[in-house]
Amino acid sequence: MMINQDVLPIADGVYARLTTPSAGWGLSNGGLIACPSGPAAWVDAPYDRRLAEEFRVASAPLLAPGGTVESVFVTHGNGDHLWGASVLPEAEIIATEETVHHIEFDPDPATMRALVHSGATDPVTRYLLRHFGGFDWSDCVPVLPTRTFTGELDLQVGRIPVRLRTVGPAHTSGDLIVHLPEQQVVFAGDVIFASTDEQPGDHVVHWAGPLSGIIRACQDILDTGAQTIVPGHGPLLDRAGVRSHISYLEYLAERAGALHSAGFTPYEAARQLATERRYPELGLVERLLVTLSSEYRYLDGSTETPNPLAVAGQMAQLAWELEESA
Ligand SMILES: [Zn+2]
Repeated sequence: MMINQDVLPIADGVYARLTTPSAGWGLSNGGLIACPSGPAAWVDAPYDRRLAEEFRVASAPLLAPGGTVESVFVTHGNGDHLWGASVLPEAEIIATEETVHHIEFDPDPATMRALVHSGATDPVTRYLLRHFGGFDWSDCVPVLPTRTFTGELDLQVGRIPVRLRTVGPAHTSGDLIVHLPEQQVVFAGDVIFASTDEQPGDHVVHWAGPLSGIIRACQDILDTGAQTIVPGHGPLLDRAGVRSHISYLEYLAERAGALHSAGFTPYEAARQLATERRYPELGLVERLLVTLSSEYRYLDGSTETPNPLAVAGQMAQLAWELEESA
């Protein structure tokens, strides 16, 4: 698969890094904030060093003369938003305090590489190889935040005001959004997996939840007054696009509650939603198993820390089952 990254100007000094295809695991978006007076920042980093190097090269001519990328604002701790930051060893890596804890639970680059390329033929390994085999983490080192905060953090990238705002638990326990008030732009991270008629995306995969928290985070994004929203995955959205994503999340929350009450397990509930095909244009329907597992923990009042690899294993099993029955 050919992975492309477009660096698109969306406001004065602000660029969205949009990955195409717009659907698929790990094909994350991000951004560049480049002030004419010198300093610059990335929002998130690509999944592997090759993609990150490509973005570093694409960023260079957009910087002010002598300007450097001094910081990376990390929306959450998943590798597809973090690991490529290792190409900027001097940069300050800013994330929420909670993201540091999240990173401890997520597989690191070496673990992911070993899992994807183990050579086993079980459904989980086949799933990983199919969806993650195109990334190269051979020279990826773990990246950790160098500066953390809770609540909100107001910063300047040169003359551009930036507000980092904690909105988790949502997609992960430690999500933040990046709000540029003067440009009316929000980088939403994986609080939003976007889809439009022109560029269909994927079903959401939310590791923390609950869905009501993600809906609230989407509402927070609208409340900033932003006109341009850069999602963690998928095409750029306007405000109507965020509203329609909220409707989809409300549908998921409603169905999750009903299926939970009816005694379905998360696996059975995800299979049921896959069968109902309410959003046939969205890919990776098996990911609803992860999202529903998160929602079920909330509905059950459970405080256990989920094991992402165990949930991912069930998801791969569901993908295999759906494929066999198609
Ligand atoms: Zn992501």
